Amino acid sequence: MPQVVVALGGNLGDVPQTFRQAATLLESEVAQGDVTLSRLYRSTPVGAVAGDIFWNAAVVFETELEPLVLLGWLQTIESSLGRTRELHWGPRTLDLDLIFYGDEVLRLPRLTVPHPQAWLRRFVLAPVCDLQPDRQHPDLQESVSALLSRTTARPLPVRYCGATSRQPEIQSIAAEFPEVALQFVDRVTDISLQIGLGVIDSRAFSVEQLSEWRDRRFWIINDSADPSQFFRDILRACAGEVWPVDWPV
Ligand code: AMP
Repeated sequence: MPQVVVALGGNLGDVPQTFRQAATLLESEVAQGDVTLSRLYRSTPVGAVAGDIFWNAAVVFETELEPLVLLGWLQTIESSLGRTRELHWGPRTLDLDLIFYGDEVLRLPRLTVPHPQAWLRRFVLAPVCDLQPDRQHPDLQESVSALLSRTTARPLPVRYCGATSRQPEIQSIAAEFPEVALQFVDRVTDISLQIGLGVIDSRAFSVEQLSEWRDRRFWIINDSADPSQFFRDILRACAGEVWPVDWPV
């Protein structure tokens, strides 16, 4: 039976209580056997409109449900615990992301597994590392604890591959993050990044080149409508502070 990891996040209402309710619902409706909860974390919010500081945690469990059925359950639990979706990346009571589904690598229209940004989000990696530090990311072939160490390296090496005209703006965003050491490159080389994060600006390259680069390890493609905000959000997710707190009694 596949072992599944789900990340929990939220910043509206009594979030630790919502996390516990979500774990209880997962145990009764979705999991075979126990649902194990990580430590509780706080993290700097990601996204221009994200609101207050976030709470984060992760759970691991086994399930017999197929991936899309499981995703449907995660969305049902999000709505039943009060999630509204007025703003993308806005404040939320509960966000449930499917991080790992066994060792499967899936790229479906509604579901990408492992979660495409899990490898760079420190607020996901820290709680998952509590539960399963040695678990291998099936696509990137690196353990959760090794992925977490990439995000905690200081200075944090970040390479940006894109149009020269964007460099001043990118440079000024990176300057908001004293822990980031930014370098511009004009092509994604064959060697994967040893550590840190690479960002490719999709607007500067052909579709062929992007599809050739899409599978490079530790590079993320910036194809958002607002590339500057995307870059800032990615840096915050990777470099932002994350700290454990006690579960309230
Ligand atoms: P969000 O608003 O960030 O919770 O994104 C939810 C959307 O992402 C849904 O429409 C899902 O179909 C899609 N999605 C793709 N991959 C995943 C994943 N691994 N976990 C959760 N949602 C996913």
